[in-house]
Amino acid sequence: MRSFLSTLVGSFAHPAAENPTVAIVQASFEATGVDARYINCDVLPDALGDAVRGAVAQGWRGFNCSLPHKVAVVPLLDELAESAQIIGAVNCVVIRDGRLIGENTDGRGFVEAMRELRDPAGQEVVIFGAGGAARAIAVELALGGASRITIVNRDKARGEALAGLVADSTDASSTFVEWVGDFALPASADIVVNATSVGLYPDVHARVAVEQSTFLPRMLVADVITNPPRTRFLGEAEASGCATIDGQGMLANQAAVALQLWTGIDADKDAMRRELRSLFPGEN
Ligand code: NDP
Repeated sequence: MRSFLSTLVGSFAHPAAENPTVAIVQASFEATGVDARYINCDVLPDALGDAVRGAVAQGWRGFNCSLPHKVAVVPLLDELAESAQIIGAVNCVVIRDGRLIGENTDGRGFVEAMRELRDPAGQEVVIFGAGGAARAIAVELALGGASRITIVNRDKARGEALAGLVADSTDASSTFVEWVGDFALPASADIVVNATSVGLYPDVHARVAVEQSTFLPRMLVADVITNPPRTRFLGEAEASGCATIDGQGMLANQAAVALQLWTGIDADKDAMRRELRSLFPGEN
């Protein structure tokens, strides 16, 4: 019989919606024999400071931050990892010897999933979207050595701001293209990413506006959408002969990066992928 839990981690969000990370992290803990719990906490904006101090006081190893806390948590931390500093948002806090270190594992999870197929170094990337997911992916790909990042977005101000951030803060070059009608992918693109919410359940038939004839078999095509994993966008890319990465790969890998930071133990990614598949099995 256990007298106490060795490790507590969790998520601070408001409202605390159903969170697949609870199930996938727990699946990895069970598969790797780690005596720990991941707890989903509803933390009101005014209570964030108390929640953070409570986590330290209770010996938590760390926690994820979801909206609206990703930016508000920054002044409460002792240190920021490079990507979190550039992105300006933290989705993962590591508590080490009482010190709070802010990380952003969204982009790292994406790049880890991508590295299973291709190294981003020297690659030319097209990213659709300029929200939080696009920001994390663009910065992490640039830090991973991508040579050029084109941001394609409807909202001009948001798209220009992200392209400017990448160009000013990393060694990659970056430009913005306003998204009007079907976008024709440049033949020089190596990696293409849908980082918008287009295709997310229940709007599974919504179309990412790309000219399908411009997908080339050498392009690696990725989608951030976790539900369903096989999106219409990925289906169109596969029909053109492209290799693809789905959003569940990104989610499992960002949880694996967080678990390694919190516990020092490699997560069981296969157990997490199986859990995600059982939660969101759907095709588009
Ligand atoms: P944001 O709200 O910050 O950004 C949404 C982006 O999608 C914006 O760029 C927006 O464009 C664009 N967009 C929305 N609707 C359309 C449309 N109809 N046509 C074209 N562009 C559109 O969201 P996030 O960046 O936080 O999240 C985006 C998606 O990524 C979500 O579905 C989320 O679930 C997923 N995600 C997946 C993760 C994973 O691990 N797999 C991790 C994090 C997020 P505009 O600026 O013009 O409004």
